[in-house]
Amino acid sequence: MIISGTTKILGIVGNPVSHSLSPLMQNAAISAMGLDYVYVPLPVEITDLALAVKGLEAISSVVGFNLTIPHKQKIMPLLDRITDVAKAVGAVNTVKRSDRGWIGTNTDVHGFLVPLKAIDRDWTNIPALILGSGGAAKAAVTGCFELGCPVVNVIGRDRPKLKEFHQTMTEQLQVQGLSVHTWADLENLLPAAGLVINTTPIGMGKDLGSPLTLEQIDLIPKVAIAYDLIYTPRPTKFLKIAQAQDLIAIDGLTMLLHQGAIALEFWTGQSAPIAVMAKALGL
Ligand code: NAP
Repeated sequence: MIISGTTKILGIVGNPVSHSLSPLMQNAAISAMGLDYVYVPLPVEITDLALAVKGLEAISSVVGFNLTIPHKQKIMPLLDRITDVAKAVGAVNTVKRSDRGWIGTNTDVHGFLVPLKAIDRDWTNIPALILGSGGAAKAAVTGCFELGCPVVNVIGRDRPKLKEFHQTMTEQLQVQGLSVHTWADLENLLPAAGLVINTTPIGMGKDLGSPLTLEQIDLIPKVAIAYDLIYTPRPTKFLKIAQAQDLIAIDGLTMLLHQGAIALEFWTGQSAPIAVMAKALGL
């Protein structure tokens, strides 16, 4: 890849971003496509997002960016247009410069669904249990209802936040089957869950923890699927225990790949080289 005076800039805005595999994956794709682009990490503190977006606006070679923790919801009022999918999810992970300002969309739902759609299941009989109630949980709730899950239970720490999560997601998605709970309800919910999804950062990077204990994972029916949105380490402790208990285990790398491919297509208008991106990620 040659950086020249005409190179267009893409990047990932978040905090932390040093662990992100997006630069590796996107720059491999950019090289394979022969584009005069570069994709860089853009660390931005939670309180500095508005300032950073103004700065990026002033740099005309910045044509788009991704957002990760903790900015996916806070970015929304700073944008000029938001796609229907991002409005439905209530979170934006991809932003593109346009003649009419910044357009925000959400590619996480698509990425989240790819590994699930590859499994042959009657989703209309499968209740989902989602651990965590942040931005990625919103994408997971949207994806589970799109699959056809009749019931989606979400577990969080903070009752007022959960109440708001329930109200906004029920309104945005126009669904009936969403329930919110605190972690105290976990043991009651696990025996009925067919799909258990970790959307908390517990177990990410140097955190060697698991959102569920071995005893709790043992309560999940053996035919169920354990899905951890985390992709480093591979596998997480949660997935290691789940696999040992004969559950189907899915990590977050396929989601990362497919959300990134759709984002690249959104920015460039060209098909993304998925095989090249998968190879860069070691998939
Ligand atoms: P977020 O908006 O900050 O949400 C994190 C959620 O986890 C919040 O509900 C938070 O609870 C909860 N949480 C955090 N620490 C916890 C703890 N110790 N115990 C219980 N709950 C805890 O972050 P996000 O954007 O949703 O991302 C979450 C995870 O998904 C990250 O690991 C991220 O890397 C991963 N992710 C992966 C992909 C992919 O492509 N594979 C895409 C998106 C996200 P409170 O609300 O109470 O703070």
